[in-house]
Amino acid sequence: MPLAVSSTIDPQPATAPSVPRLRVGKLCIAVQGGTAQELFARADAALKDSVFLEFRLDFLSKPASVLPDLKAFLHRRRDVTVIATCRRKSFGGHFTGSLNSEMELLLKAAEIGCQIVDLEIESAEQCSRPQLARFHTALREMGASLLISSHDFSRTRRPEGLNQTVQRIAAYDPEFVKVVTTARSLADNLSLLRMVEDQSLTSHLVGIAMGEEGLISRVLSLRAGAAFTFASAAEGAETAPGQVAARTLLDLYRLEQLDQATRIFGVAGNPIAHSLSPLMHSTAFRRENINAVMLPLKVRALDDLLTIVRDLPLDGVAVTMPLKQEVLPHLANMDALTARIGACNTLRTGADGRLYGFNTDVAGVVRPLEKRMRLRGARILVLGAGGAARAAVFGLVEQGAEVFIVNRTHERAAALARKAKAHVLRQSLLAKNKFDAIINTTPCGMAGVKPALPIKESELNASLVFDMVYTPLETPLLKLARARGLTVISGLEMFVQQGARQFEIWTGKPAPEAEMLRVVELELRRHPQ
Ligand code: NAP
Repeated sequence: MPLAVSSTIDPQPATAPSVPRLRVGKLCIAVQGGTAQELFARADAALKDSVFLEFRLDFLSKPASVLPDLKAFLHRRRDVTVIATCRRKSFGGHFTGSLNSEMELLLKAAEIGCQIVDLEIESAEQCSRPQLARFHTALREMGASLLISSHDFSRTRRPEGLNQTVQRIAAYDPEFVKVVTTARSLADNLSLLRMVEDQSLTSHLVGIAMGEEGLISRVLSLRAGAAFTFASAAEGAETAPGQVAARTLLDLYRLEQLDQATRIFGVAGNPIAHSLSPLMHSTAFRRENINAVMLPLKVRALDDLLTIVRDLPLDGVAVTMPLKQEVLPHLANMDALTARIGACNTLRTGADGRLYGFNTDVAGVVRPLEKRMRLRGARILVLGAGGAARAAVFGLVEQGAEVFIVNRTHERAAALARKAKAHVLRQSLLAKNKFDAIINTTPCGMAGVKPALPIKESELNASLVFDMVYTPLETPLLKLARARGLTVISGLEMFVQQGARQFEIWTGKPAPEAEMLRVVELELRRHPQ
């Protein structure tokens, strides 16, 4: 059953402390601002995504000064639930006042209508027992709840250590327990999710790992039983490292649809933050009514990826640089072409839990070409001899094309030609040769890469030009080819074709190619990379 992101009923764990009747949604948007104006502008904008907000008062130089406006806001928007937080500097916040002034401010926040206040565990521990009991009683009398939070800015402990942190907080009997750690690996998410699974049976628990590697926990902790998760109001307005904008969690990571049956896929590499694969695949999953999501996985070590694939588990992974070769020894099986190329860009986890490897980059090159020309006997020039060139050369030779390779480092081209039964050419001979197609597999044409053209204008002796580069969409090579009236194929088409084959391998259904192309192209036009 899909989770109601703005539901008004909080699931009550059987033995958890009772919570006053609150509208606690599943998605809490943390809002901050350097000025009251900025804070409320962000809060107002956030309300279209969730009516559950956290006000980070400590981002203001004078937090108390904003309380009258906050009171008016709560009066105006009676449907909104607010957590008031005024984290002190020594515990990762910005508030420079004392413990007493923090607690005084939180009580005032409760008095004006904030339904939850966040006190960090270190502050709770600095209080005397009677002082904290008085604070908690006063909150309850005002109808507000206490959330006690722990933040570890350096690491994520193993599940036993995290359980101890929960117990440390639970000893104060707060209505909500929040444990935030820092993910240094993908496997850290497993520890955190295990803690959420175990402890959410007895506590209203929030568990999140910060940092880029912690994204899995931000998306999947609700599914593990967390009371809610946090998001930022917008990109650039984060209150914690790795926080994701609410719209992104809802649209890209399908927060409202995730349940126990959701199949999880990943795109693995480093760097990976700007990968367009999650957008392309999540759009395709939605379009085809498939209960699945794709997450970007920043992989520093292959072992870390293999652990998360096995233990999360992941149903499949799109593999990018630098893992395409490294992953081969870990495959239970792969198709013959992937073995010959020696690079795998797609993993599928079998029902037996073992990994099967595929190379869909080949289809990404071959399919766009075969739509426009006959490949058997065609003379095709490949510029470059790296990873992308390997897929093109092996794939095209297999289709019966006569393939020629030119590369900056000639020996590398010669080695690839020998292996793939292709020909190697010196660049100086290019002007004297004619081809049916030229494929650029070098990064020339990407912003900042020199030269912008991989070959000279006089060497453009073909009727079709295919540029694998797709940032920018219209590369200098494609511009030149178009100006000459040649047929062109963009790297975007290759990207979508290789992704479409991945979709088919993972789901067994035809891919909605047109929709995949549309969203990726739109994104590239909106945010040229
Ligand atoms: P790679 O393994 O690093 O290979 C790069 C190749 O380009 C090498 O042959 C290298 O020559 C050559 N090269 C690099 N810089 C050059 C320069 N300034 N001038 C001339 N030659 C240069 O990279 P890759 O994984 O094959 O990727 C290559 C390009 O293809 C990237 O731009 C990537 O984004 C794109 N790509 C696109 C898709 C898609 O779906 N559209 C898929 C995969 C890759 P040396 O041997 O002399 O170093």
